[in-house]
Amino acid sequence: MEYDCIVIGGGPAGLAAAIEAKDNGADKVCVIERDRELGGILNQCIHNGFGLHEFNEELTGPEYAAKFIDEVYKRDIDIFLNTMVIDLTKDKEVTALGDNGLIKLKGKSVVLAMGCRERTAGAIGVKGFRPAGVYNAGMAQRLINMEGYLVGKEVVIYGSGDIGLIMARRMTLEGAKVKAVVEIMPHSSGLNRNIHQCLNDFNIPLLLSHKVTEIHGKNRVEGVTIAKVDDKFNEIDGTREYISCDTLLLSVGLIPENEISQKANVSIDLRTRGAYVDSNMQTEIPGIFSCGNVLHVHDIVDFVTRESRIAGKNAARFARGELNNSKYIDVYAGDKLIYVIPQKIALDDENGALICFRSKNIYRNPTVKIYSNDKLIKQKKYKIIVPSEMIQIHLKYDYIKDLEGNIMVDIEGEKND
Ligand SMILES: Cc1cc2nc3c(=O)[nH]c(=O)nc-3n(C[C@H](O)[C@H](O)[C@H](O)COP(=O)(O)OP(=O)(O)OC[C@H]3O[C@@H](n4cnc5c(N)ncnc54)[C@H](O)[C@@H]3O)c2cc1C
Repeated sequence: MEYDCIVIGGGPAGLAAAIEAKDNGADKVCVIERDRELGGILNQCIHNGFGLHEFNEELTGPEYAAKFIDEVYKRDIDIFLNTMVIDLTKDKEVTALGDNGLIKLKGKSVVLAMGCRERTAGAIGVKGFRPAGVYNAGMAQRLINMEGYLVGKEVVIYGSGDIGLIMARRMTLEGAKVKAVVEIMPHSSGLNRNIHQCLNDFNIPLLLSHKVTEIHGKNRVEGVTIAKVDDKFNEIDGTREYISCDTLLLSVGLIPENEISQKANVSIDLRTRGAYVDSNMQTEIPGIFSCGNVLHVHDIVDFVTRESRIAGKNAARFARGELNNSKYIDVYAGDKLIYVIPQKIALDDENGALICFRSKNIYRNPTVKIYSNDKLIKQKKYKIIVPSEMIQIHLKYDYIKDLEGNIMVDIEGEKND
């Protein structure tokens, strides 16, 4: 089967990319999704908070996904469900396994939109057996919201990322007692609004600078030991505390699903664990694009949509032989940033460039400054910048068309924990 654009993954990234590819002249477009339905992680996110930027209203995850699923079905886009992509070559040959057996497709362009997976208990190395009752927070969310199983009654949550915070509220609403959210960092890695709406409103304690040192119980979790940590994350003597519980939910990070990308020799940035991309969202392999959580972990789906439209549009341009940028400069993250996306900007692209980054620390009243060859080309003031909130800044074509030196993005302001 031959396609102008093959989209791998039917979550919000894949859906927005497919619609945009089709609307920008890619004739034959398909979406390959391993799950039984389109929508990705949004299907299990039954809370609201989606769509504020995109639709100016607060939608639930399934409502947000439905808007894009409807648009996909209105177009002549082939959908393969229950179909898992197992191989991709740099010549854009895709092998997938699904209801129709093993299928082979060839694309003029491919969009990688496989999302990310959760870090598991093994990755954090907590002492103890591995009894029943230890779940990744996202898995527990799926079991409760989609399969109808309450995973426990007395709960400790390790990690204060958004999934952990949202699950603290969800478990409470379902009748469980959430005893604490334990976070090793001195600040939460979740959005501020989630700390208020999911913890403070339900009197759930957030224990910052604490770690879980031991899981107790052999067949089922019986409790956990927690302790305070110093600024190097070492346990502080005499601070151990036992909390009895039957469930430990882990919300300790997400990992972009790039095994398929690496089969096609797509280069991976060790900071984002996603592909190196240019401002067209094109990886270092011509015609292979990447967007959404497989590129870098997003906190807000609206930003996934925005980025994925760029990927889809340019995948269509590539398929039509019209993506011919020739002048590129590199983009670097300054000392105060964890990373910046894209890593390269095409100067001769009239759409300009969307810059995304995360800070390493909390800054109050900071200014984001963008330099080219030490010359300030753009600055923007913020009330607060926190590591949990990704920042996006659009650089118009006028700002970049005549640049000669590489770009550096950084924050000016005092660190404030
Ligand atoms: C618990 C939770 C709460 C959130 N809350 C909010 C919120 O309140 N507001 C907000 O704006 N955002 C929220 N987000 C963020 C938002 O949901 C994500 O950023 C967004 O869903 C990412 O979209 P994606 O398409 O990149 O990935 P996903 O939604 O993960 O979709 C990826 C898709 O690719 C498929 N796939 C993967 N590998 C393959 C393969 N090999 N073959 C075929 N298919 C494959 C997967 O099955 C999946 O359907 C939340 C996220 C989580 C996890």
